[in-house]
Amino acid sequence: MAGGGDPGWVRSMQGADGATLQVSAIGFGASPLGGVFGPADTAECEAAVERGVARGINLFDTSPFYGEGKSEQMLGHCLATSPSVQAMSRDQLILCSKVGRYGPTEFDFSGERVRHSVFTSLERLGTSYLDIVHMHDVEFADLREVTQSALPALHQLQREGYVRNVGVSALPLSALSNVLHLSGGGHPPDVCLSYCRSNLLDQSFDRTLQPELQRRRVGSINASPLAMGLLTNAGPPPWHPAPTKMKQACARAAERCGNLASLALRACLARSSASCTLVGMRTAQEVDANVDAAYEALSGKWPTEMQQAFSAVEQELAEVQGMTWPSGLRENNDDSMLTAEQEQELCKQ
Ligand code: NAD
Repeated sequence: MAGGGDPGWVRSMQGADGATLQVSAIGFGASPLGGVFGPADTAECEAAVERGVARGINLFDTSPFYGEGKSEQMLGHCLATSPSVQAMSRDQLILCSKVGRYGPTEFDFSGERVRHSVFTSLERLGTSYLDIVHMHDVEFADLREVTQSALPALHQLQREGYVRNVGVSALPLSALSNVLHLSGGGHPPDVCLSYCRSNLLDQSFDRTLQPELQRRRVGSINASPLAMGLLTNAGPPPWHPAPTKMKQACARAAERCGNLASLALRACLARSSASCTLVGMRTAQEVDANVDAAYEALSGKWPTEMQQAFSAVEQELAEVQGMTWPSGLRENNDDSMLTAEQEQELCKQ
């Protein structure tokens, strides 16, 4: 079985104080364990986590926002009951959660809430420390509050040993960059998590933010290689924020390809410059399919039918390349992102 131990599977990611974290090429995105992509069955989630660990995935990412705590609880349960995890020491796993976002419109980046949130996450995940805690979706907040309240609170927890690395996540790349700038004179985050900006639909993370992260020695995680379900044959969940035009282009691409998820993951891993790519999974079958696809991509092996489907898929996606929906406060969005008005216009078409 491909996976752990193979060349290219384990990568070094920059962490706090010049240290590096050894991360698997794909990380386990645990938002589906919180029911974000449909009901999460406990036995299926247990099997998915066990298979992930057995196949060499060592990084798990969750948040109190995913299913309002359900993802953290389910992940904690699955880790506690996994035979593979029981055979490992805690330092062989990289457990990541987040602070600041608690509901679709509920945000709190105050120092007090951050502290309380981290202790709740520790309890749900059954651990005494978290490897990375990200400030979640910071584009919805005043970035000065993020850097002046949440960031120092996380640094305090880092000094106390509850948090090993501090991270930041957002959709707009400029929000991530601005958090680095605003905290630049002091102590910036150790890791950036970008999502939906390095996949078949958009490669702007690799072009614009990653060079800055490398220069500043900040670790990089790329999430949502399947564009939160857009790049799958089953299509996106009903809440997906992409404009109709993007959804239609992805549905056409899926018709031209037997397994769009597998193609999208391969293309992402072949091109992405991030240390770890987070894929959302909730079944052992998805874990197997993704580890196999990742390993083939890293080895440069593409089945012939995938190579043929690749150009057809790229053709279908050409008209929506680089298109991104608005997210959070307008002043925190990238110039290249659609405005809310443009998005409404596209949804009518
Ligand atoms: P994704 O692009 O990884 O897609 C997940 C969807 O694809 C799910 O419906 C999953 O069941 C499905 N899927 C996975 N493997 C498949 C396969 N082989 N075949 C068919 N379908 C497959 O999107 P995501 O889950 O949103 O992103 C991955 C993870 O990254 C999240 O779970 C979360 O941990 C993290 N994330 C963080 C942020 C943030 O911090 N703001 C944003 C997005 C994602």
